[in-house]
Amino acid sequence: MVSIPECFSESYAEARAKFCAAAAAAGGAIRSWLNPHARGPAGEKLHLDTARFGPADAGRMLVMISSTHGVEGHCGSGAQVAWLCTGGPAALPDDTGALLVHAINPYGFAWTRRVNEDNVDLNRNFVDHDKAYPANEGYRALADAILPRDWSPDCLAESQRVLEAYAQKHGAFALQGAISGGQHSHPDGIFFGGLKPTWSNRTIRAIAREELGRARRVGVIDYHTGLGPFGHGELICTVPPTAKSYARARAWYGEELTSPEDGTSSSAVVTGIMTDAFPQELPDAEVTSVAIEYGTYAVPDVLNAVRADNWLHQRGDLASPVGKEIKADMKERFFPAGAKWREMVWTRADQTIGWALRGLAA
Ligand SMILES: [Zn+2]
Repeated sequence: MVSIPECFSESYAEARAKFCAAAAAAGGAIRSWLNPHARGPAGEKLHLDTARFGPADAGRMLVMISSTHGVEGHCGSGAQVAWLCTGGPAALPDDTGALLVHAINPYGFAWTRRVNEDNVDLNRNFVDHDKAYPANEGYRALADAILPRDWSPDCLAESQRVLEAYAQKHGAFALQGAISGGQHSHPDGIFFGGLKPTWSNRTIRAIAREELGRARRVGVIDYHTGLGPFGHGELICTVPPTAKSYARARAWYGEELTSPEDGTSSSAVVTGIMTDAFPQELPDAEVTSVAIEYGTYAVPDVLNAVRADNWLHQRGDLASPVGKEIKADMKERFFPAGAKWREMVWTRADQTIGWALRGLAA
């Protein structure tokens, strides 16, 4: 009997070891990609690992990705390991393979951050960098409140006043959108989309071309945490309702599927998300993507943890007591302690994987 909570890990290094061992035990072909731009907190090397299952020429491929937002990899890695340890690979239908992408953002996972080594939010980095970036006037107005001079009671009270005034005037969801919708103007801020494709961006595109180039149908599940009710996995459509693949995603996931564009999601509308890479790199395949977003704590608490972590890396001291407090809070907000949340994560992931496999087969 597999203990589901034990499939989850407390650190990136533990997660990587567990993933590679479980993938090897299940007969997967493992490839590792070293991130040449960063090291972990103990100076350790950081890798993105992939494990592939099923026939080399499979027409249908299920893709599962963890750690797009670094610290959220505790969740995605746990779900991947649970799938490996509960007989997932052996149960793949005919002509169907699986590609597990473990720690697409190993820096963020290792350092307990959402962002990558460039302070970039990967899920805002997949825009066309040759075009003008989408404007985010709200962020501009809030930038100083988001990154205060110091983490003192006075500075925090002033930040709080500015953020609350914005919510009073525009609404709480508009505040969430201004902060989290993505921005390309403040490299020292949060939800920064970057000014060029990151290492993770270039690497996942190469992986897509090399591993999925022969597939006719590709189903992608990207694991996230931090929005929605505790332990619930919201299935968020990653394309707008005008996209060709929208109807297919709707057919696979039914009324469970939510959409930021039509206001049914707990997520703000965002641009430049990671899963956009798959249809771009696989123009001849039918790609159907979903983000599974597991709730943890209330949005203000989660956003506050992200803001504190950004301040810590920009202006604080990681070794200080407040630095350690911020890191502990960051981990809890995106990876709640205890068995129950982890069991809920796997139950929902298992169900979603089943729907994706049925969709691929249809
Ligand atoms: Zn996320």
